Amino acid sequence: MSTLAGGATTPRLQLVTTPAAPVARASADSRLAVAIHDVEPATYERCALMRDWLEDHGVDRVTLLVIPAPDLHPFADRRPELASWLRERTARGDAVAQHGLQHRQARKGAPLRQAFARWQARDAAEFVGLDAQETRRAVESGRRLLKLAGVEPRGFVAPGYAYTPSLREALADRFDWWADLLRLHRGGRAATLSPALTLGTTTPLKRALSPLLIRTMSVTGGSLLRLDLHPADLDHSRHMLALDAVLQRAGRRTAVTYDDLVAA
Ligand SMILES: [Zn+2]
Repeated sequence: MSTLAGGATTPRLQLVTTPAAPVARASADSRLAVAIHDVEPATYERCALMRDWLEDHGVDRVTLLVIPAPDLHPFADRRPELASWLRERTARGDAVAQHGLQHRQARKGAPLRQAFARWQARDAAEFVGLDAQETRRAVESGRRLLKLAGVEPRGFVAPGYAYTPSLREALADRFDWWADLLRLHRGGRAATLSPALTLGTTTPLKRALSPLLIRTMSVTGGSLLRLDLHPADLDHSRHMLALDAVLQRAGRRTAVTYDDLVAA
């Protein structure tokens, strides 16, 4: 049973770990890459709870996607205990990756791109609408804040998976890897096709369909299974049940971080 770290607001859903079910399981040489998105001061307790829950499922290596400056406030100034937790987690095998800078779109893009960005990420597509210089500055600022907090990111995931040509260019020579919804990009190597299984919480349709979709995709998944968790998943019991089912099925896969995937 998971416990809540830090004594903050208790999420509505109590997390349970169901006993192993007799389901078809992946072969032992296949891998499971779990990422917890949107780690930041406001979600710290939820993320810690999710991390404990994953531990209960035997997932000993996870990638934590950290928003360096929500509302443009450095995360470690606002919650030093979050920075300590990240350092502790990385010492135990997890990886920290940069998740944008502020996770909020500051400037609108061209109409068509903007419409797509809304659909992709609502108001989180922070790189859509930024020019090349602004993009580099945002990436660098976020990276610096993470380093100052004692965690050095080797990888990057754009908020809402909303990438632009300027962002791809800015990432190419600064990070060992970056991931979009369908692929993992590794410096100097061809991208690996591996869609991330992710649950939607922003619209009723996404909430209704995504649990079924990830259950189905986890059955057909290849040698690498990417699974995304968001703090908001805790509010939706169907989401947690679907995640539980996917993790049960993935039980024999080796848990890896995205940093591990680059080293492999
Ligand atoms: Zn995000």
